[in-house]
Amino acid sequence: MAKIARFQIVLLLFFIGIAQGFSQKTTKTENVILITLDGLRWQELFKGADSLLVDDTGMIHSPGTLLGDFWNTDPKVRREMLFPFFWGTIAQKGQIYGNRAYGNKVDNSNKMWFSYPGYNEILSGFADDERITSNSKINNPNVTFLEHLNRLPEFRGKVMAFGSWDVFPYIINEQRSGIPVNAGFDLAEGENLTEVERTINRLQQEIRGPWDEVRLDPFTHHYALEAIKKNKPRVVYIAYGETDDWAHGGKYDRYLLSAHQTDKYIREIWETIQADPQYKDKTTLIIGVDHGRGITKSSWKGHGESIPEAGQIWLMAMGPDTPASGELKTKGQWSSAMVARTIFKLLGLEYPDSKAAPSIEEMFK
Ligand SMILES: [Zn+2]
Repeated sequence: MAKIARFQIVLLLFFIGIAQGFSQKTTKTENVILITLDGLRWQELFKGADSLLVDDTGMIHSPGTLLGDFWNTDPKVRREMLFPFFWGTIAQKGQIYGNRAYGNKVDNSNKMWFSYPGYNEILSGFADDERITSNSKINNPNVTFLEHLNRLPEFRGKVMAFGSWDVFPYIINEQRSGIPVNAGFDLAEGENLTEVERTINRLQQEIRGPWDEVRLDPFTHHYALEAIKKNKPRVVYIAYGETDDWAHGGKYDRYLLSAHQTDKYIREIWETIQADPQYKDKTTLIIGVDHGRGITKSSWKGHGESIPEAGQIWLMAMGPDTPASGELKTKGQWSSAMVARTIFKLLGLEYPDSKAAPSIEEMFK
């Protein structure tokens, strides 16, 4: 009798479990990869290389060097030359927001238009113009969506972040959140380093990039790619950084080459996860940016509140729950603050912070 009762209880719990599973989750997304390219303009994303800058001797090292690979009089051809994965794959199977020629607008909701406020907005779901007012290495008082996920038993220890800029451990508040953030000149750590991780560690110590606070993106990319293969995290954030630093330096050739390389990196991430049964057709890729930049020969180098166009940005998504709408051509307004709640909804979860912007309904079938 006792045995039967126990069996019935187990059976009951089993059906309750199934019922909860059905009632809670209607989406197919089980993993999320969020990627950002620091300060990459919507102008290049939608129109390719800029006619004003592509062969300006003040912006590039040697005249003519970009024309063969990146120039065509048709902006649609140019953008495919610059971003073959974005326009060949995401535009076919996913969504691309932010082409202002159609009145399809994505903007920052913060008014600062530089990096920390931009990343805070994407990661925590709201602008915080009272407290996030500099790029200083201050632990973020706001809780990011990464941290909210890492607090849930089913995601704990399965959230990882990689960034080229050394401020990410503070933006993500590595100390409080417990999320491992490999950023700046951090090395891969731990007992069981792979051969690849040991090699990247060595190369990172041997190759000095041009900047003190930002490493070259290949290190960030290969640490992230290796960690995806090795640790199979459910949520990964990768923050590429080169585009912004080359732009600040006024080097349009390096800015374009880096943007083009990052498109290749993102293809590699996508092909890697689509070849792995844990991720294949169960993973949504979201790609965004922390701020825009100016549009003149001098203002394209910078951003911030004094540059009127610097709050204009873009956004992309591709995954099993997202309609293949391609380039959105409808009038509308979105913001990067909407990403955090959208990611929770993709995972079948309610975002726990009421301050966060709404989710992007167009990203759901
Ligand atoms: Zn930035």
